[in-house]
Amino acid sequence: MEEFERLRALMVDEQLRPRGIKDERVLQAMQTVPRHLFVSDDLKDRAYDDCALPIGEGQTISQPYMVAKMTELLELKGDEKVLEIGTGSGYQSAVLSMLCAEVFTVERIRSLAIKAQELLKRLGYENVRVFVSDGTLGLPEHAPFDAIIVTAGAPEIPQTYIDQLNMDGRLVIPVGTRFSQTLYQIRKTPSGVVTKTSTPCVFVPLVGRYGWE
Ligand code: SAH
Repeated sequence: MEEFERLRALMVDEQLRPRGIKDERVLQAMQTVPRHLFVSDDLKDRAYDDCALPIGEGQTISQPYMVAKMTELLELKGDEKVLEIGTGSGYQSAVLSMLCAEVFTVERIRSLAIKAQELLKRLGYENVRVFVSDGTLGLPEHAPFDAIIVTAGAPEIPQTYIDQLNMDGRLVIPVGTRFSQTLYQIRKTPSGVVTKTSTPCVFVPLVGRYGWE
């Protein structure tokens, strides 16, 4: 077995399953996507460590557990149209790409978006489209979505995301201060939104009109 494949299996068995990730499709996707290709060469050996890593421009690729947890909370079955805010390295987009029909991902930093787009294309993740814009506005021209995942920390829940969700759609978003947040799963129902809080977390800030300054 290739070394990185072995490290990926360990990541799933030691970081994800024991902490309660149960969705087998999510575990399978995490077992498959080559995370080491989404970090710079000098960090490849640490790609499967239990932590976030820098990807340039002051941004990070999220910890594997956080990627798995957020993805699980989206409750994807395979036919969904998903919006991701915060493309970053493109790793989360690749994981999503294996679990739904279409991924729309928005990044505000052009250089990261271009790099991610090229990598995703090269690796054959063809159902992912990358956009450069302020993701706090959502992606109105492609709405509505079945699920929305925000991979940067917000001061509050932007109404734009609720508006751009289909009925029974799920929004997964870290909400809190600039330095620490709580992961929320918000479901849009006919009688209003149903909010569940999950694990504490630390994300880079969501910067934009309905985020941080
Ligand atoms: N999902 C990424 C994690 C990236 S970190 C991965 O798997 O690598 C969060 C990203 O959100 C950063 O790249 C940051 O530039 C981006 N971001 C922050 N505010 C944003 C906004 N308003 N719109 C789009 N992207 C934003």
